[in-house]
Amino acid sequence: MASASGASRRSPPAPGEPELRKVLELERAKGYADSAVVGGLDRFLAAALKGGGLRPAVRPKLRLPRGYRSLDVSARERWVHDVLQALDAPEDGARQPAPVPREASRAAGDPLDQPIRTQRGVSATLEARFERLGVRTVRDLLSFFPRRHNDYASIVKIRDLRVGQEQVVKVRVWSAAERVIGRRKGTDATVGDDSGMMRVVWFNQPYVARQLRPNTEVVLAGKVSLYHGRPTFENPEWELWSDDLTHVGRLAPVYPLTEGLSGRTVRRLVRDALERFARFVPETLPEELRERYGFPDAPEAIRQAHFPESLEALDRARRRLAFEELLSIQLAVLMRRKAFQESAPAPRLAMPPRVLEGFLSSLPYALTQAQRRCLDAILRDMDADRPMSRLLEGDVGSGKTVVATGALLAAVANGFQGAMMAPTEILAAQHLRTLRSVLRADGGEGPVFTATPAYLDRPVTIAYLAGSLTPSDRRRVHEAAASGEADIVVGTHALIQEGVTLPRLGLAIVDEQHRFGVMQRAALRDRGSRAAHMLVMTATPIPRTLALTLYGDLDVSVIDELPPGRQPVRTEWKPPERRQEAYDFVRRQVANGRQAFIICPLVEESEALQARAATAEFERLRREVFPDLRLALLHGRMSAREKDEAMRRFRDHEADILVSTAVVEVGIDVPNATVMLVEGADRFGLAQLHQFRGRVGRGSEASYCILLADDPSEEARERLRIMASTSSGFELAEADLRLRGPGEFFGTRQAGMPDLRVANLLDVRAIEIAREEAMRLLDADPELTRPEHARLREQALRMMERTIDEAH
Ligand code: ADP
Ligand code: MG
Repeated sequence: MASASGASRRSPPAPGEPELRKVLELERAKGYADSAVVGGLDRFLAAALKGGGLRPAVRPKLRLPRGYRSLDVSARERWVHDVLQALDAPEDGARQPAPVPREASRAAGDPLDQPIRTQRGVSATLEARFERLGVRTVRDLLSFFPRRHNDYASIVKIRDLRVGQEQVVKVRVWSAAERVIGRRKGTDATVGDDSGMMRVVWFNQPYVARQLRPNTEVVLAGKVSLYHGRPTFENPEWELWSDDLTHVGRLAPVYPLTEGLSGRTVRRLVRDALERFARFVPETLPEELRERYGFPDAPEAIRQAHFPESLEALDRARRRLAFEELLSIQLAVLMRRKAFQESAPAPRLAMPPRVLEGFLSSLPYALTQAQRRCLDAILRDMDADRPMSRLLEGDVGSGKTVVATGALLAAVANGFQGAMMAPTEILAAQHLRTLRSVLRADGGEGPVFTATPAYLDRPVTIAYLAGSLTPSDRRRVHEAAASGEADIVVGTHALIQEGVTLPRLGLAIVDEQHRFGVMQRAALRDRGSRAAHMLVMTATPIPRTLALTLYGDLDVSVIDELPPGRQPVRTEWKPPERRQEAYDFVRRQVANGRQAFIICPLVEESEALQARAATAEFERLRREVFPDLRLALLHGRMSAREKDEAMRRFRDHEADILVSTAVVEVGIDVPNATVMLVEGADRFGLAQLHQFRGRVGRGSEASYCILLADDPSEEARERLRIMASTSSGFELAEADLRLRGPGEFFGTRQAGMPDLRVANLLDVRAIEIAREEAMRLLDADPELTRPEHARLREQALRMMERTIDEAH
């Protein structure tokens, strides 16, 4: 944790802006879990404020009245975004130099690295506005691609204009004058061609009048409306006629804009930049590849992507640029994987057949075929000195924990340690319980205890490490881990905190890995003194396309089968009028001896409010709706002990209904629960709803998921419809990706999400082709050292820096 160590060094210097930026970016990458620095962000901020390394514009932003801890995820996200923006803002006269852009320092003299300020017509104000869009250099500007193009190519006659359609005319100006239109000054013009004449108005743009001299030829583009029964252009795009048009009379680029930056300005500047600099854009693709796919060369592709000659040329250009991006990603992840595998040998951990057989036959059930296949793949990986890096993907309830347990046993049987990290204490405690029962623990209540499975020739020592331990218990676990006494350590983030060492670590497992960043994964592995095998698990199904990019450096095993006897969960979305019906249903299930979850709506402001709302809902349900039933409450503000107690009561059927906030989302396993009632279901993302639903249907009884939403938006309705129509996690994940886009997939930004300009992460075919080509290239030239691959290599490394920079 490079960025974290600053806070824990002896008498540390106060962190300045670069450290702050790094920490905030890391925090963002980790989903705002207040996990970017040891000791929490609030301490870090206090330290930063003490020093003099911050600009006056930044300082006040760091003073959070109730601290970062008290903010909920969306408030955290807003705040982090805000501070990062303040950090990015240009100099306000203060002395602190802005960080030098990486590219500029790397290759002084490359014309593409010039700041856009050096371009004609770029003022400091304009520069600042571009900066907001992430455009600093000419290179940035050239790869600032339009979102789409307006087809303003075909020019029609005034006589043929149709109301309500986007159309283009070439006309002569009859008259144009500044006039007050509505309340403000604008331009009012009359224009004509050889088929007729018409009125054109520009609201709020009096200056247009000055440029439209009578008799000049202009091209106008936009929607035609009727004004007093006559066709009129309102605020059309326009340009004086020439044989080289930029804004209209062609396929015109439409750029993402920001306050104070008009489409016209961007088009003009990009056009200038293309003329002067496109030829310097280096060719990265080997000629052979380009020919095979019929791609234009790099400068031509860039030109056509902005100002295409035709739709076909645009398509060719975009395909080439997308391919280039995807190829770079694939080269980057494949090279990273190779580097990891060759970094240092891991211990060979062969699973003794006797142990495997004993373990499997000690289970109260037979593994499903899918579980067996995945376990075999994992054991095969571990029986090699090349470190395993495998992702175990399996829908909720598919039984990943028992597979992980098998892998842990392989480590233990070879005299090595295994560690398993979970994102929440509830979940870590549950894993611990699973281990206890599967490995036949002899009892002992402390955080370190032993189990004596018959198939091992010695007892296994298991330790539990989480934030809630008393200092003396924590010390005890640290010692057991460091001395090698503990064979298996299960825990939360506490596992990767200072003071934990696992000298004989052979296998590191991270559960629900999307809750952790790349760096935290690595941090767990680094607790050991040499390379360890790495297994990461996720219940959030990842569309194949994303898996190939985000986790392209991992081997993937999928448990694509649920244990037998599970019944699909029936899901119904009910309008609020039918809430009583839902309650009656819960009551009937409870009368039949079943249990139910009731999830409270998501309250945005803070976890404290969330807890309060949950408590109020709990009281209401207990007094007014289910006075005769036994209810328990679970929310994030309860102490670990209280949470455990609530969970225990529910698990041991001392409570019929568990009223909970979203904390119950991950991993909880209570097979007797058959109803999941989600209030305010429209506030949750698909992935999260799927996780909730996964809490039921874990036993042999039929189970139900009831979604209540008071006033869902159109997009929320779409989500609820999808939820009710499929139970496949994969289908849901694809839908989620489609609805929210890769940036927001899973509700939080994913660590390592590639920053793509052109390529589409839903395009399976394109990604697969890129992967194939990347493998071919690396087969022929493993380090990309051949001269014709030099540029490609550089680009892949740049991509790796951009996407995975928190990994170092
Ligand atoms: P997840 O993949 O969501 O982490 P768990 O590992 O929590 O799933 O397993 C869910 C439940 O299924 C547990 O109660 C576990 O004991 C049970 N289970 C796992 N594998 C099987 C199997 N092959 N047959 C029957 N039950 C199983
Ligand atoms: Mg699990």
